[in-house]
Amino acid sequence: MPDDLLVDGRYLARERHDQYERARLAALILAQAEALTIPIVLACGRPARLGALGLVACSAIVAFLLWRTVAYRLRRLPGILGILVGAVATASTMGLDILEPDLHTLVVGYLTMIPLASTILLFWRPPTHLAALAAFYGATMLFVLLSPPSLELAERATILALTGAACLLSVFGNLEGTLRRNSRARQARQLRSQRLELRLIARERAREARTDALTGLGSRRALHEDLAAAQERARASDRRTAVALLDVDHFKAFNDRHGHRAGDGLLERIGSAIRSGLRQGDVAYRYGGEEFLILLEDASADQAEAVVGRIRSALDAAGIDHPGNPPWKTVTFSAGVAEVNLDRGISVEAALRLADHGLYAAKAQGRNRTVTESSESPLPDG
Ligand code: GH3
Ligand code: MG
Ligand code: MG
Repeated sequence: MPDDLLVDGRYLARERHDQYERARLAALILAQAEALTIPIVLACGRPARLGALGLVACSAIVAFLLWRTVAYRLRRLPGILGILVGAVATASTMGLDILEPDLHTLVVGYLTMIPLASTILLFWRPPTHLAALAAFYGATMLFVLLSPPSLELAERATILALTGAACLLSVFGNLEGTLRRNSRARQARQLRSQRLELRLIARERAREARTDALTGLGSRRALHEDLAAAQERARASDRRTAVALLDVDHFKAFNDRHGHRAGDGLLERIGSAIRSGLRQGDVAYRYGGEEFLILLEDASADQAEAVVGRIRSALDAAGIDHPGNPPWKTVTFSAGVAEVNLDRGISVEAALRLADHGLYAAKAQGRNRTVTESSESPLPDG
């Protein structure tokens, strides 16, 4: 999934959850407001108060149920939950005015608060918000039209003016909040894409650090990391592990004759020859200047020797001129091979020392050859 969609998905889910929490809070506040209205109705002390009391108590119970049980069922539809809370608040406030005209001033105050509270508590997206306000204002107009004749014209005009002003303020509040919400979403998206970019750069740097720039083989750093891991794997399984050390013969003479740049080119070609001889799973590293190490997991010394033989054939086939390397006069290398044998105390590190010993022997015996050190060989000091 593209990253920005993922961000949007996550952001929308969080926003929906946020709206759910707000709508739930609105239901709770409505239940509390209705409960607090009960003593106010009682204080009126008029015969009509029974109906008003019943209405307020019912509204309190409905709001409580919205908060307590209905909310969870509507958690994926927080807009609907908010509309229900707003509808209960509006209907119960208007009903109270009809049943208890003495509380008219209070009711007008309540009605004015509904659009303002919706801005903070419900915080819908602008289209929903505008639709809800339109519904609210429509209901208010209907209420004013259908009110008993006792309600004076000035009072009707006041209700319409106050609720109208409240709706306008509510629109501004919602727009301001929407702008802030959108900028937060943008920031979240930017932050995430920056984080992703940094992760990619870090991964690329790590990959570069593990690669030798000249030959494309593993770097010395990669070798250190991989040797420790190979040692662990050798300990954990009974698969065999072998190492081979390769060193170009008379490389200094090649450099002296053709120059350092040509020497670099030769190292590149040797890197390719090594790669061409590896089996699946074998890993080659540039060990030092013109020395290479091959780590062969799941391989015996014989198999490692065969791999080195393939590399030698590839290099021989290339027939690169090297007059300073008698008697062959082409580029050759010497190699030492050894096998890990934990039963005999030959760890990966120890096998490496053995292979180095073998390489030294190959040089001493005239170069362009491979010497395999058996695990019975006395371990050289390291
Ligand atoms: P031997 O057969 O005994 O290995 O002889 P040699 O000349 O190959 O070995 P020696 O250790 O005397 O010389 C290695 C040379 O490799 C010396 C150094 O200048 C050269 N060298 C090391 N790293 C690089 C490199 O990255 N590029 C080039 N062009 N030469 C390098
Ligand atoms: Mg060397
Ligand atoms: Mg050399």
